[in-house]
Amino acid sequence: MTISRLNTISERIHWLSPDGTTDRPVLGVIQGRKGTLVVDAGNSPAHARLLLAEMAQLGNIRPNYIALTHWHWDHVFGSAEFDAPLIAQCETAQIVKEMAQLDWRDEVLDARVAAGTEIDFCRTMIKAEMADRSELVIRPPDITFTQEMTLDLGDVTCVLRHVGGDHSADSIIIYIPEEKVVFLGDALYVDIYNEPRRYTTRKLFPLIDACWRAMPSIICWDTMKK
Ligand SMILES: [Zn+2]
Repeated sequence: MTISRLNTISERIHWLSPDGTTDRPVLGVIQGRKGTLVVDAGNSPAHARLLLAEMAQLGNIRPNYIALTHWHWDHVFGSAEFDAPLIAQCETAQIVKEMAQLDWRDEVLDARVAAGTEIDFCRTMIKAEMADRSELVIRPPDITFTQEMTLDLGDVTCVLRHVGGDHSADSIIIYIPEEKVVFLGDALYVDIYNEPRRYTTRKLFPLIDACWRAMPSIICWDTMKK
């Protein structure tokens, strides 16, 4: 018997573990009676196909929507593997559209790092994950929103909320109130594109406020526990 690599939080929520060796992030699956939302598209077609295979094995589940938490390559490069609508915050969508026009082959990527428009860490991880990127297709989002949108998946709701922050100004979180679960994406990380890597009160404090507005019950519960 094959063991699924999908971790289970509840009957309706699963996640694929991250892999730091090639910067594969967590991918989420929220399964409702009327449909299934996948959180982030993976850092390559192979990463996306792994998730799809694990979902099929779990119970023949297919995604009905894919939500991008922000524009960084490791969250969007698998987008073309999905045949369901791709949802993103409008700033994410704009940047992904521009990324789809770029050439990602080694020599061009190296030139972008030399010019300072890409960072060495991402170049190293992109090359490690996908040695051959000549066939890479990045699919721009189909549905966009600015502040917040809610997806009703039947017996479970997904609140997609723009929170911004130091890591990426377009970051969203995905809150599932019925389960008291939130997918944070990379929202709580520092900015990796500018040195020194650090938090700023200018961006961190509004991020905390935005998270509070999006999921007060979780924060209250945590505060009361202490
Ligand atoms: Zn990121």
